[in-house]
Amino acid sequence: MPDAPFSPAAVFAAHPRATTDPAARAAAATDRSGYEPPHPPDVVVRCETADDVALALRLAHEHGIAVVPRGTGTGLAGGSSAQAGQVVVDVSGMDRILAIDPVEMTAVVEPGVLNATVNAAAAEHGLFYAPDPASTSICSIGGNIATNAGGMWCAKYGVTRESVLGLAVVLADGRLLRTGRATIKGVTGYDLNALIIGSEGTLGIVVEATLRLRPRPVRTETLAAYFDDVETAGRAASAITAARIQPSILELMDAGTLDAVDRATGTRHRELGGAFLLAQTDGFGAHLELDAVEAAVAPFATLVRRAADAAEAAALVAARRDAIPSLERLGRVSIGDIAVPRNRLAEAFAGLEDIAARTGVRIVSVAHAADGNLHPMIVVGWDESITEGPAKAALGEMFHLARRLGGTLTGEHGVGLLKREWVGEELGELSLSLQRAIRSAFDPAGILNPGKAI
Ligand SMILES: Cc1cc2nc3c(=O)[nH]c(=O)nc-3n(C[C@H](O)[C@H](O)[C@H](O)COP(=O)(O)OP(=O)(O)OC[C@H]3O[C@@H](n4cnc5c(N)ncnc54)[C@H](O)[C@@H]3O)c2cc1C
Repeated sequence: MPDAPFSPAAVFAAHPRATTDPAARAAAATDRSGYEPPHPPDVVVRCETADDVALALRLAHEHGIAVVPRGTGTGLAGGSSAQAGQVVVDVSGMDRILAIDPVEMTAVVEPGVLNATVNAAAAEHGLFYAPDPASTSICSIGGNIATNAGGMWCAKYGVTRESVLGLAVVLADGRLLRTGRATIKGVTGYDLNALIIGSEGTLGIVVEATLRLRPRPVRTETLAAYFDDVETAGRAASAITAARIQPSILELMDAGTLDAVDRATGTRHRELGGAFLLAQTDGFGAHLELDAVEAAVAPFATLVRRAADAAEAAALVAARRDAIPSLERLGRVSIGDIAVPRNRLAEAFAGLEDIAARTGVRIVSVAHAADGNLHPMIVVGWDESITEGPAKAALGEMFHLARRLGGTLTGEHGVGLLKREWVGEELGELSLSLQRAIRSAFDPAGILNPGKAI
């Protein structure tokens, strides 16, 4: 990286959208991971157009200034956290839906548009956008793309990568790259589109995306099952997968999460059991498929209840969406994101109990059970650290547990800042060095999101 002879504030005085306002800088310093950098970034550039982004990157490139791309800052891995000496390029103001083609079933959007806004617009045409993180109403499409976000419907429809056809990306030196295509199929050249998705703001800044939409299911059916404990619920979820049923939602919550949700929202799930599984099926045969789900979970469950109507189904889905915000009221939360083979969920929950006992931290869990993706949440006191001491030890042990079970460090939140020290162990030297070479081909000066991801 060239020397930085000027301060970021002096260099970015040339950018019409840059601000050094202390409140703006403080707001752009953190995401929802619980990590707080010691000092906020020097400058925030609130971009409104792709040209704003290109100018920001040209200035940063010329002067060797580190840039942190930012959507709406709901990330859970510290990926959009920024510190002194850095410039935040905030694209949350680029939030227009540019086009929806109901026949091709595609949407062209700017990166700052909220996930839920895309879905609301798609719904007007009888369509939906499948990757729906629990943060749908607060997270941006650009952030979803940069983290390859997952969500509830991903159980059936796949994660973000399966729903993004094309991208416009501003590279580190300010040039505009177009990747992918507007068609459903296409294999010309290497798949740079797939490479950008999940690259956590290290290869470029997404300024436009062509998304794949899908027909809204003609029918959905929903079921809630309660169990004595989370390991039994894990076995039930694995039984659904083993029965070759493809629910569109399969979400699991443990006793601690049910307690927190009940307390925060006034529901009464915990009275009904020590763990909860939410299953939804969709399509013409949704009711038949739900029969099969019910048959698979019944031997494990203490109570199985089918939602009587759409309102009851929506309330059950809302309980799962409320899980993280409810737990965030209890203390400082560090959210794990391991994924394991789907038939090993029960072992993963047993392993987490063991980690909690050994490290002395409180761990409560939810899981996208159909994908084997667990979110064990480490809850510590407001004055305790999540990056040091027992919380960090527990995070490291979770990773090793996942690896022992044949799994991975992060299923959907990304590596960010907080999981970086375990990346090499999972990827191995050869893969890591190739990935670093790719990163440096895109960003030879190393200005994009340094210290994050790989
Ligand atoms: C309550 C709650 C529930 C959640 N549930 C889920 C869930 O179910 N599934 C899930 O996957 N995640 C979930 N998340 C995590 C988070 O919402 C996702 O990671 C989301 O994709 C982040 O989007 P964002 O706009 O907030 O990105 P940010 O936090 O702003 O950024 C995330 C990363 O993307 C990069 N980035 C952002 N925008 C761009 C861009 N335009 N171009 C290049 N890089 C960019 C940043 O540098 C950073 O590395 C949840 C978070 C919360 C708070």
